[in-house]
Amino acid sequence: MENLLDKITSLAKRRGFIFQSSEIYGGFGSCYDFGPLGVEMKNNIKKAWWDEMTKNHENIVGLDAAILMSPRVWEASGHLTAGFADELAECKFCHKRFKADEVKTRKCPDCGGELTQPRKFNLMMKTFVGPVEDEASVTYLRAETCQGIYMNYENVLNSMRLKIPFGIAQIGKAFRNEITPKDFIYRTREFEQMEMQWFCRPKEAKKFFDFWGKERLNWYLNLGIKKENLRIRDHKKEELPHYAKAGADIEYHFPFGWKEIEGIHNRGDWDLSNHGKASGKDLSYVDELHSSSPSLHSFFNEETKEKYIPYIVETSGGADRSFLVFLIDAYQEIKGGRTKTTKAAKEVEILLKLDKKIIPIKVAVLPLVRNKPELVKKAKEVYQLLKPHFTCQYDELGSIGRRYRRQDEIGTILALTIDFESLEQEDLTVRDRDTMEQERVKIKDLPTHITKLMCGV
Ligand code: ATP
Repeated sequence: MENLLDKITSLAKRRGFIFQSSEIYGGFGSCYDFGPLGVEMKNNIKKAWWDEMTKNHENIVGLDAAILMSPRVWEASGHLTAGFADELAECKFCHKRFKADEVKTRKCPDCGGELTQPRKFNLMMKTFVGPVEDEASVTYLRAETCQGIYMNYENVLNSMRLKIPFGIAQIGKAFRNEITPKDFIYRTREFEQMEMQWFCRPKEAKKFFDFWGKERLNWYLNLGIKKENLRIRDHKKEELPHYAKAGADIEYHFPFGWKEIEGIHNRGDWDLSNHGKASGKDLSYVDELHSSSPSLHSFFNEETKEKYIPYIVETSGGADRSFLVFLIDAYQEIKGGRTKTTKAAKEVEILLKLDKKIIPIKVAVLPLVRNKPELVKKAKEVYQLLKPHFTCQYDELGSIGRRYRRQDEIGTILALTIDFESLEQEDLTVRDRDTMEQERVKIKDLPTHITKLMCGV
């Protein structure tokens, strides 16, 4: 019996969401490419996150820092030492490698052979800059995007005339030489992070840690993820990463168990202190005025004028991991189909009930039949009318019922059908993905009608 993750993987490939990287060469371990629908959907996820952070919250600004940085950044951050390493155990018999915390005994889960003593394995990906590959030219692909934010903490603070507390949001690629990349795009060696670093007074870090945990959980809920599949779990002391004073994971109930999708950490002054010491630059902050932001007012009770290294509370999510969560949570199979009137609908129907903000294609444009040139012509006119405003797909192949199901399978929220009446009345039917109800709408009214449906205004 095919499991849910296999079904999602197969749908993702079949419908142009995600392909294996370098597939014609047999694939390249744990690397994936986002196809035409995948790139639309991932962009939508990133936009939803960006808007949430920079528009729906006050005092958060954006940044796009370089992937390559001075190797001194990674020395000071602790990533080059044992702090950023997984424990690796190897089977003496079949030589397969495992993360030590994933195997309960000293036996190989695959062949039962004896495992070696775990040894530390650093996750940083090394590379060389310039023409000579020597020690002087070594640097690393960033393992987390937030270090680029710390490097620009002062630049952003001064250029934007910000006052603490404030946040910097960034979306970008990160790289980790994971020992056991697995579960499709859940754990890969190249992935995209969506991180927000919140700079605050030390004594307010705990308050903001709780605040941001709730905010981030709500983001997933507001985008339709089922409540029963989400939870927030506080880290035990021994689970904390080397930089954190407190941590919590937002977890999703994947087919392979409850797993992290986003980390919330109170990083204390670890980063700014260490970078201050290593660079010789004083990164402390002098608190002079309160923020005038009314919504943050409750967090400011006392007047202070003190010098301190700000504490950082981070929300650190993955664009790829949340992509997988959205796909899994939206996936539905309907045995026998939802349409009782068509014979063709007697198989298993797939419905991708994604939130309309996330769906890759908003509107499908379908001529009722393709052998009537006047219908095709009208449908193409409608497609051209809508294409600049919404992601649209034009489809004329197969019966109309089959085409509706093809759109349901990729989550398209509206299917517009141009029929013979359309030629007389200058209107068409608009079918809703979830209710399958259809209404007739004048072609000239479509842009406003669709905008209304999409934005609920
Ligand atoms: P894990 O315990 O799963 O290795 P982590 O605790 O090391 O994750 P963080 O360093 O907190 O992860 O990274 C923040 C987020 O970045 C994660 O919640 C996840 O969404 C994403 N992420 C981290 N590593 C990977 C990876 N190898 N592949 C895909 N996404 C990742």
